[in-house]
Formats: sequence, C-alpha cells, structure tokens
Amino acid sequence: MLSHAPRFDAQAAARVARDLYGLSGTVRSLTSERDQNFLLETSAGERVVLKIANALEDPAMLDAQQRAMTHVGSTLDLAPRVIPTRQGSTLHSVDGHLVWAVSHRPGTPLGLIRHRSPVLLEALGAEIGALTRAFRGFDHPALHRDFYWDLARGRSLVALYRPLLAPDVGATVDVLMDRFDREAAPLLADLPRSAIHGDLNDFNVLVDGDRVTGFVDFGDMVYGYTVGDLAIAAAYAMLDSADPAAVVSQMTRGYLTQCPLSETERAAVFPLAVLRLCTSACVAAHQQRERPDNAYLGVSQAAIRRTLPRLNSARIVSWLATQSFAPVMDLPSREVLDLSVGGSSMDGVRAGIGRWDEPRLIYTAPFFEGRTIHLGIDLFAPPGTPVHAPLRGSVHAMADNAQPQDYGPVVVLAHQTDEGVPFFTLYGHLSRETLGRLTVGQTIERGALIGTLGATEENGQWPPHLHLQLIVDLLGMGTDFPGVGTAAQRDVWRSLSPDPSLLAGLPPSAHEPDKAETLAARQRLVGHNVSIAYADPLKIVRGWKQYLYDDVGRRYLDAYNNVPHVGHAHPRVVQAAAEQMAVLNTNTRYLSDRLTEYAERLVSTLPAPLRVCYIVNSASEANELALRLTRARTGRRDMIVLEAAYHGNTTSLIDLSPYKHLGPGGTGTPSWVHVAPLPDDYRGLYRRADPACGHKYARHVAELVGPHIAGFLAETCPSVGGQIMLPPGYLAEAYQSVRGAGGVCIADEVQTGLGRMGTHFWAFESHGVVPDIVVMGKPLGNGHPLAAVVTTREIADAFDNGMEYFSTFGGNTVSCAVGLAVLDVLRDEQLQQHALTVGNHMLRALRPFIERYPLVGDVRGSGLFLGVELVRDRETLEPAASEATTIVNRMRADGILVGTDGPYHNVIKIRPPMPFDLADADRLVETLDRICADGV
Ligand code: PMP
Repeated sequence: MLSHAPRFDAQAAARVARDLYGLSGTVRSLTSERDQNFLLETSAGERVVLKIANALEDPAMLDAQQRAMTHVGSTLDLAPRVIPTRQGSTLHSVDGHLVWAVSHRPGTPLGLIRHRSPVLLEALGAEIGALTRAFRGFDHPALHRDFYWDLARGRSLVALYRPLLAPDVGATVDVLMDRFDREAAPLLADLPRSAIHGDLNDFNVLVDGDRVTGFVDFGDMVYGYTVGDLAIAAAYAMLDSADPAAVVSQMTRGYLTQCPLSETERAAVFPLAVLRLCTSACVAAHQQRERPDNAYLGVSQAAIRRTLPRLNSARIVSWLATQSFAPVMDLPSREVLDLSVGGSSMDGVRAGIGRWDEPRLIYTAPFFEGRTIHLGIDLFAPPGTPVHAPLRGSVHAMADNAQPQDYGPVVVLAHQTDEGVPFFTLYGHLSRETLGRLTVGQTIERGALIGTLGATEENGQWPPHLHLQLIVDLLGMGTDFPGVGTAAQRDVWRSLSPDPSLLAGLPPSAHEPDKAETLAARQRLVGHNVSIAYADPLKIVRGWKQYLYDDVGRRYLDAYNNVPHVGHAHPRVVQAAAEQMAVLNTNTRYLSDRLTEYAERLVSTLPAPLRVCYIVNSASEANELALRLTRARTGRRDMIVLEAAYHGNTTSLIDLSPYKHLGPGGTGTPSWVHVAPLPDDYRGLYRRADPACGHKYARHVAELVGPHIAGFLAETCPSVGGQIMLPPGYLAEAYQSVRGAGGVCIADEVQTGLGRMGTHFWAFESHGVVPDIVVMGKPLGNGHPLAAVVTTREIADAFDNGMEYFSTFGGNTVSCAVGLAVLDVLRDEQLQQHALTVGNHMLRALRPFIERYPLVGDVRGSGLFLGVELVRDRETLEPAASEATTIVNRMRADGILVGTDGPYHNVIKIRPPMPFDLADADRLVETLDRICADGV
C-alpha cells in the first residue's frame, strides 16, 4: 500500500486548493505515512488541511471518515470539519487520487510534549470519554472490516512478528503477552464494541497547555472495542512515563466523568494499552525489515522499547508506592555494600545491605555470560533474626532449595493490590525450622512473623542474610523463581522483580552510571580522538589474569592487551605497589636501592654493552630520549624508520611514525625522516620464497644511510605494521650499514619485550644482533606507567653534556618496586617458556586455516605475538579489512577480545596477557574457526 502514496508537490497542491476550493495562500507539506497532507494558510488566516488519499484507499472508508467527523463534530468541537469544494462536493478525483479538505485543528501534538501533567492526562481521558459519547449512534459499513490495527487483531499480529524482535525486546514482550493471555484475553469477548477513532496515538492528539484541542486522522476507524480509544491513547500517553500505571488511572478517571465503563472494560484498559505497544513494536520490526530506510516508521519505537519493560510492574509498583509497610527485620547496619563487579566489598561480606539490580560475580557462571544481576536486596544480620511480613499475604509456596548458591529454605508470599492484581514477595536464606512452622495457603498478617534467618550451613552456604525479592509475575515458577538474572535479560527481570527496597523501608538501590551515561560523560569531558574500541563500547570494571569483566559481569578472554603482561591485577604486583606506596614514593634525585636494584635486574636481561639505564614513564618518553641520545652521540639529526611504524605520541615521534604522519590528520613525512620499506615477506616488495628477501630489504636501508643519518629506529617485530616477522638476515645487515655510516641502531621493543616472543626475552635476540639503544615500555609495569631506555656507557656519556636529565616520575620508588615484581613473576611463573608453548600450540592450530579458508592468507608470529592476515584474493592479496573488523566484532560477541592492525587493518592481532593458557588458546582457535566456517 505504501508504494501507492501520492506524490504531489506543494505547487500542485496549491493549484488543487485554488481550482477546487477557491483557496490561495502558503502551502506546506505535513508528515504522513500513507497519504499526503498539505497545510494551506490563506491570507485571511484560515487554515485548511488538503488531503490527497493513497490510490488504494477505499472510497467507502473516506466516506466513513467524513461522515464520522460530521457526526462527532455535531456534539464535540475537537474533530476537523470537512470542507466542501466550490461545487459542494466533499471528494474529488485529481490525477487518479481522491482529494478532500478539512479544517485545521490548532495545538501541539501530545507526542512533542515531554511533561504530561496529571491535569492534562485527566483532561485527555475526559475528552476521549466525550468522543466515545459523540460517536454514539454512528456506524458505517466500511468500519466492519478486517483491519490490521484493530486491537482485536493485536494478539495474533504479535504472535506473527514476535520472531523479528531483538532478543531483549522479545523477552519483555513474551512476558507481557503471557500475562495478557492469562488476565486479559478472557475479558475480550465481553467488551462492548462500537465505531471508534482507532488511532489516538500521541501525534493524533493535539493539546494546548493542559487542554485538548483536537483529535485528528480518522483514517484508522474501525468497529472495535469501545474502550479501545482510551486504551490506545493511554498506550502512547504513558511512553517514557516514570509511572505508566498512574497515567492510565488518571486518564480513566477523566474518562469516567464523561462516559461510564463496565468492570470488564476498566480491567481491560491497561492490558489493551500494553497490547497496543507490543503490537507497535512487532509491526515496526516487520516494517523495518521490509523497508530498512524508512525512518518515519520508527518514530515512537525508541520510546516504546524504553517503556515496555516498565509495564510489567507498573500497576503493582504504583500501588505499593501508596502503602506503608511493617518492618521486615532489625538491621544491624544500614551501610550499603558494593558487591558489584567492580565493587570494593567483593571480598568478605560484612553487615549491611546488598543492592537490587546489582551486577555481581559471586555466582558460579559459564565462561562468557552467566547470571549476574541480583534481583532482590540482601539484608545481612545474625542467624536467628526474626523476619516479618511487610504487608498482608498468604504463603504461596515454600521449599528447601539446598543446592549451594541457592536460596536455602525459602518462602514465597502471595499478595494482591486493592484492584486485585496479584504479586509476590520472596524470602530466601531462612532457617529450616521456619518451614516447619508454616503451611501453604496460611494467611500472614502485615507485621506477623514469617520465620528466622538461617545459619550459613542451612541457607545455601551464604553468610547469614535475608534475600528479599518482589515479584510481579511469578511465571508459574514458585520457589524456583530466579534471584539472579542474566545481563542480556536484565530489563525483563528487572521489570518482573522491581526494587523491593521500599518494602524494607530503605531508599531505592543506588546504581553506578550505566554504559550510556558513562559514554555521554566521556564525550562531554574527554577529547574525541581519544578513541574508544568497538562501535558498542565496552565498560570494563575488573580484570583478573587474562580476563576482563564488563560492568554487567560478562567475562571476556583478553587476547589483545599486552600491557598487563603478567596478568591483570596480579596480586604480587598489586602488593608491591601498595607496600611501596605506603612507605615512600619519591624521585631519582635521592639514592634508592629500589632504582639501582631494578636497573641492575633490567640490564642483566640484556647483552653487553647495554648496561646503562634510564627509567621513564611511557614508551613515548623513552623513544623521545632515545632520539636525544642518538643525536647527542652522532651530532646528526636525520633518522631512518620503517614504513607503517608507530613509535609514540610526541611531536618528534609523530614525525618518526609514518603510520601517523601519513595517516588521517597527518602532514606528511618531514625532511629529516627517511622511510625504508616495511620488510613484510608476505605482501611486501620481496616475499619469503625468495632466499635473499632479508638482504634485498636491507639494501633499501643501505641506500638511505649517509653522513647526515643519526640513527635507525625500528621495532624488531613491527606490530602496527601488521605483526611482521622480519626476514632472516635483515636486521643484521641493516644495522651493519647504519653503523658503517656512523649511525646508531635503536630497537623499539615496546610491544615485543619481556619474553613475549617465547624464544627470547627480547625480540632482537632472535636476529643475532645487539642494538645500541633498546626502548622498552608497555609491559614493564603491568599497567603501571613504566618505561625504560637501556644503552651503552659510551652513548650515555655523550649525552651527559652538562644538561641535567630529569623525569619527575621516571624511576620513582613505586615504579621500580612494580617493575621488580613484574620481573619476579616472569621468572617464578616461567612465563617466557609458557608463551612459547602456548604460542606454538596456537600456531599449529591456526596454520591449517590457510588451507581451510580462502580468507586466511597468512598466519605468523612467535610466542604470544601472533597475526592472522585476511585477504580477499590469494593472487592480488587484496586486504580483507571489513572482514577483519567483522571477525573482531563477532569474537567480542563470543567473549574474546582481539584487535586488527597492519597498514590495511586486515591483520587480526593476538597479543594476550602472558598467563593466556592452552585452554584459552583452544577457545580462541575454535571461535575463530566457527566464525570463518559460518562465512564472513
Ligand atoms: N613504540 C611502540 C612500538 C608502540 O607500540 C607504542 C604504543 N603503542 C609506543 C612506542 C608508545 O608508547 P606509549 O603510548 O606508552 O607512549
């Protein structure tokens, strides 16, 4: 039908208005999904809406609309008035489209009003009541139709399109419809029917202040449930309302001043409003799939998605807000504990209150996403503490759920609101003796004893506390209703178990900012080119070994971050930092055994003559110092670097980083920087099949050296370049020609150092060379800002030219203690050997991918520094960049973090913390295998 929408322009509309209606003035197009509407304003100030019907519109339906407007208009001044043509007809055909005109109603669409006062909502209800009355006595054959948007069809439409909904919306809709089927469906047959407007959505209701000024667009009229107009208007009026049930009751109160409702109709208003929003979400999902580009279809959808989960609990929560409760139990402490994923109360729960809707890691869980969202509150108190009913109820169910981490002895009480809406409260971790005293069905008065708190041995092995949960819909689960839900279903669980704090006389549970709030604050406060990984960013709040945990407790295998070298939050590193911090943290101007001990340990990992150490805060600072050392030693300025290299973020290092200065925002290679080809033996100038490959690449360096060259700065395994393994002989020959011309050779070991390559502690060692300067960073401090430069005494002495070298934080006492702890852990946990074992295992498993998947062009690397290069064509090696991004995103969706790199962003980079083990390797390989097999 949509494709038959008329396509008149404003000029054509103006012509029609003049010729048919004798009206002239300004013409403006109005938004409409199916028809075309133009607003015409005459010089006399008269406003007319010219309506051009869709070619498929049933003329009988247009007739019904006009008659209904006239009928309603005779007793209620809120409907547009039909305006006849000069010839006196109300419908005219122009170019195959039926044209008609109505008076324009003043006012603002309700949909544009954010604050909807109770006065306005009551007035709206009253005017809808008046509309129902005004419709009385009206009928038209065209309204007895099988109409898509008829509420009577809503339930089957939801069933039809439900599979198209996003999983979280779908889960919410399921619960809402389950309740609809149980509570409302049986009422439908008894609902009176009549001609109704049928679409009082918030853009068809016009208001001015607290007054309703119009109901427009009668095109969705149907002979349907009389109460439908109230229910549909309520559905849209409650969008984004903090208290949707109150919106319905305010509107109903207004309606009743104008028009009576049967008991059945009253009971059906809220469920029909819920049905309407679910129908709208489902139809939108269907339409979006058919026509993904049509934004108009999605106008209300964001608000509907936000509102749907709240509807589960709306009526009960708003009733509870009007009640007062008896004290549940004596609380030894009202301190609010932080048991969240990133919280500080994780170890050793004390007395206090545990929060509702808190993501926690304390429940055993499968690898990626387990049940983390706590659906009740915890009230910690000694065993034996009496527990009382906050409100009157009856014992609905009880059980001794003796499994570890379960409720232990648990009681569910059933309650009802004054309107008879059922709901439940759940009391977990009681004493076994409690169950013996109660019988199912027994009434418990407000304030009466339910039982006592259980001891750890009998309550599911928890520290003694009451788990108190409010449940608006038990879903038939009885005492098996979960107390903890998954993050993916957080909205629906939260809506089924709203915050019970008010039952215990406590303020609502406080929340950390959610991801969207954190992102908004960051956008406001932090520079926008401080980039964020993933289109849907991760909010990571805890790290442990090779794992990262997000704010809702999902566990990610970290196969990307090399900075937490010995593992996130390694206890020995944490302890070293904390202990030193508690004693002293100062700078290199005082003698410190920590500094000398660290320098000694660091240089002992390097061959002679690399014996002099400078300790700094970042690899950028280290490379910057390496540049100064080089220039001091040679008295020259120019440098040779590799194509696609990155060495740091300072001004000089951007000059030395073609990856940056030739990339977006860069200003090109400066004259003092000379770029040698990246010795990429997979896609570069010379390939690995050529035995002279290393030599040929080294020749390019030889061509660049000369009396102006101070030095050669290169990673010994270019990382940003795409996890490149330098071809044999390359580095030795390049160093030789640089030194031959009096230059200094700098090895940037920032990515590759400290045993990551498995075979050696430093990557340069595998090339049989000894650099003049080694730059180290990232992994040195396991995340603490620690970097270093080690060089020869000769170069250090050349730099010692009278000017003091001082880095305020560089080599501070805490940094040195941290650095020492990292070296200790590396040694004691034999992580270099571990990297070799796991890396070889992974290479063995990944190499066959080259045969198996045309997309996988190359697998390379050493230890825990691997790259998987993706290509679209084995001949041209066309980089498969978007495929690499897709894979990285899919890996993330499966709980594995990897990245892309290389000049073409087509190399998947695997560079995990060193504790990454064989099982992690298998998980990564299997996941990548599955994604490749599924097709990218
Ligand atoms: N050199 C290399 C090879 C790097 O990868 C990086 C950081 N990615 C740096 C230097 C700069 O390190 P930082 O950000 O610690 O200054």
